[in-house]
This record gives sequence, C-alpha cells and structure tokens, in this order.
Amino acid sequence: MGAGPPGNPAPTVRRSLHDARETSVNLYEHEAVSTIYKKHRVPHADHVVATEPNDEVARFVREKGGGVVKAMVLVGKRGKAGAVKLVKTEAEAAQAVRDIMAMSVWGEKPVAVMVCEKADIVAELYCAVTYSSETRGPVITLSMEGGMDVEEIDPARIHNFPVAAAAEVEPFEIRNMLVEIGFTKDYGAIVRQASMTIASVYRAFWASEARMLEINPLAVVRRTKTDRKTGKPVEALELMALDAVVTLDDDATVPPQKTFGERSAYKREPTQREVDALLIDRDDHRGKAGSYVEPEDLGGDIAMMTFGGGGSAVTIETSYDVGLRPANFTDIGGNPPAEKMYRISKIILSKPGLKGVLVCGGTASNTRIDVTLGEGLVGALDDLAKEGKLDRDLIWVVRRGGPEVEKGLKLLAECFQRNGIQGRVFDSELPITQAPLILRDLLVEHRGYKPGPQAKAQGA
Ligand code: GDP
Ligand code: MN
Repeated sequence: MGAGPPGNPAPTVRRSLHDARETSVNLYEHEAVSTIYKKHRVPHADHVVATEPNDEVARFVREKGGGVVKAMVLVGKRGKAGAVKLVKTEAEAAQAVRDIMAMSVWGEKPVAVMVCEKADIVAELYCAVTYSSETRGPVITLSMEGGMDVEEIDPARIHNFPVAAAAEVEPFEIRNMLVEIGFTKDYGAIVRQASMTIASVYRAFWASEARMLEINPLAVVRRTKTDRKTGKPVEALELMALDAVVTLDDDATVPPQKTFGERSAYKREPTQREVDALLIDRDDHRGKAGSYVEPEDLGGDIAMMTFGGGGSAVTIETSYDVGLRPANFTDIGGNPPAEKMYRISKIILSKPGLKGVLVCGGTASNTRIDVTLGEGLVGALDDLAKEGKLDRDLIWVVRRGGPEVEKGLKLLAECFQRNGIQGRVFDSELPITQAPLILRDLLVEHRGYKPGPQAKAQGA
C-alpha cells in the first residue's frame, strides 16, 4: 500500500476506447450527481440543468451570486476545452449557456449544461474508486494533487489503497489513508468529515455496481454556515465533489466475457445451455439471470453462480487464482423473480462433469436473497431431488448478503439438509475472496480435487 506507480491506471477521460468496446454505461455529470451522489449523500454543489438560458438559470445565478457553467459531455478535460466557465451575473450566465451549448467539446456536442453554485476552492484532491486486476478487488486512489489531469500528477503522489470487496470501508481506514497522503497535515480539523465523505463515495461506488467512480476535483472548499448557537455566519472547510465520472456495468452485472476477454463470446456456436439461458431474460425482463456462458474449452468442473458487478468479477478471478476450474459463468442481478432463478439453477447444474458449486456475491441492495436463493434455487434443488437428478457428490459453498439474507440462507441450509447436499453456507461476514478458497479446500479434502496450476495458498 502507499505511494508508487498506479497498478491500475486511473481513467482520464469520460469515455475511453477501453469503455467503448465493453458493455458499460457512462453517466453524464448531472446524471451521476442527481442519482448516485444524492442517494449516497456525497456532498456536491447546488445546481440546475438547462439546455438554453432560462428563468431558472437566471434566478439560480442571482440567488447564488454567480455560478459555474459546465458542458454535459461524456468526454473529459472540459476545463481545457473552455467548456467550464465561471460567471458572475445573470447576463454572463445566459451567454455562457448559449456559448457552451453551441460548442463542440473535443468533438462532442453537449446534451445540456449544468449551472453549479461556485465553490470557494482551497485545495483539490483526486479521488477514484475502481477495480484492480492486480489486487482482485476495489481500490481507492487518492492524491493531494487533484484538479489537473490525472496523467499529469507525479505518480509518486498518487496513492492506491486496495480495500476489501465489501459494501463499506470503515471511516478509520480512510482516516489512515488521509494521513498517508498528507491530507491531515493541513486539514486535520476536517479529517472526520472527510473520512465520512470518502466512505460515502466508496458506498456509492459499490451500491451502484460501478466499474469506476472518479472525482476530480474532490475539493476542500470554504463555506459560510450559520452557527446554530449564535446565528452568526461562520466559515468552515468541507470536502465536496466538484465533478463526477462514473462508468456503470451494463444492466449492473458483469458479463463474464468482460473479466476474461471476448475469448468465448463469438468464436463458436453457443451451446444448448447458453441458448436456453438467453431465453430466460428474453421472456421476462425482471432482473437478469440468463447471462450464462461456458468457457471456450467447454471444460471445467465448478459451477459458478455469481451475483452483481464487482462481486462476480472478484469471485471468478479469485476462483482461478486458487486453482478452481470454472465450468460455467452466470451473472445474476437486479432482483430476478424466483421463477428465473429456478430455471437458471437447473441449467447451471446440468453441465456434465461438475464437482463443486460456488454461489457467491456481494451484499445485494435490491436482490432478495429469500426469493433468489430461498425460493428459486431451493425449488430447483427439491425438484432435481424428486426427479432423481440431484448429484449428491457435489460440494457447495454459498456466500451471500442482502435483503432477507437470514431467511434466504436458512431456507437454503434446510434444503441442503433434507436433500443430503454437502455444503457450507455463509453470509457477508465471510470475505468474498475466502469463499473460493474454502470450496477448493473442501474439494481437496473430501474429493481428492487436484487444483489447477495457478493455485495459490491464499486467495486474493
Ligand atoms: P473537467 O475538466 O472535465 O474535469 O471538468 P471539471 O468539472 O473538473 O472542472 C474543471 C476545473 O474547473 C476544476 O478542476 C476546477 O479547478 C474548476 N472548477 C470547477 N468547479 C469550480 C467551482 O465551483 N469554483 C471554482 N473556482 N473552480 C471550479
Ligand atoms: Mn474534472
């Protein structure tokens, strides 16, 4: 941890070539602010959105005594392109709105402008949360040298902090990061608020299943507040997000091809199971359960039932790391109904040659665990048992968190019991990266499993 060249270079533009190839969705700043920042209480500037000068803009600028007019484009470096303008009066604001709407920002037409309350900037930090293929998990990148383009920052002053693949980072962990980057030297007085803000940024990243959330600048701003006791205005420093670059996963799920490249997607005819799975989502748009892929070599012996953006990526990469050989990948998210879970469970388990099953995901925000696991998966297992098709030699490891998790995991554990299924069931107390390791060790101990060559003693 600490200073050094970034292992996973932070993105610099809102829409990179990298993103264009993939099934990702980039948000405009106003979309990110009004949905993600607002929902997760990431402090941001008051603003209005417009496509032409209007009364709302005039009133806003009058009341705030000025503002900042920004182009809503997906490309970055708007400041350098002249597409971020400070204005003092209503007339200047109207002109800036018109000018920016008429601009082409690095070749891109603005869809709107955001008129923001002008911030009194004291310092500009760089902050990003993304996934690192090196550490197999989320990484918080921080620098005291924000404001400028990230590639211009001295790499020695960019700090990457890998964190556990979980919904929350504790404020004390962030406090330690802020000490390490030198934030507390000048801004020790607001370290508590700053830690909570960055904890909110991380929570926003995780809960929205983003691939990347970049804030540059995350600014220390001077604000005038009214003192509660005296009623007098007092000046206070505060950390505030003055920009937002967010890349979401398409449908908030990671198609496994994304983790492993396009190697299996187009080079061969889809298998019958892949086709059957596609129909699950085609027929019913509630949630996503049909993104089923088998590896190109069609081998492998571990059925993978994984959930959610980051959770799936981390589970799959860690599985390979510990020497498991996935036989299929399915990414499930968006709270699919029990019926869909039932169908995909049967497809996943019908792959020949399985030795183990890994049911693993982060802590869902919407997906109901009692419905997906407690009802859909349980229904499939009970029916397979009735039909005499249940393979009781399989070893299962389940790790899951989210709404109704206690009920869902209890129903699943009871189902394991009555059907003689061998497996272990964990909630989110268990780190995601431990689940593949536990499955591997159970398989080695009870089934003489021979882990693949890349097996490491520890998970990520
Ligand atoms: P980008 O160039 O596309 O990253 O656009 P940003 O939204 O980050 O804006 C570019 C720069 O404008 C920032 O780095 C700030 O230095 C400056 N800026 C943005 N908002 C404000 C503000 O409210 N007040 C001041 N003084 N500067 C701002
Ligand atoms: Mn910026």
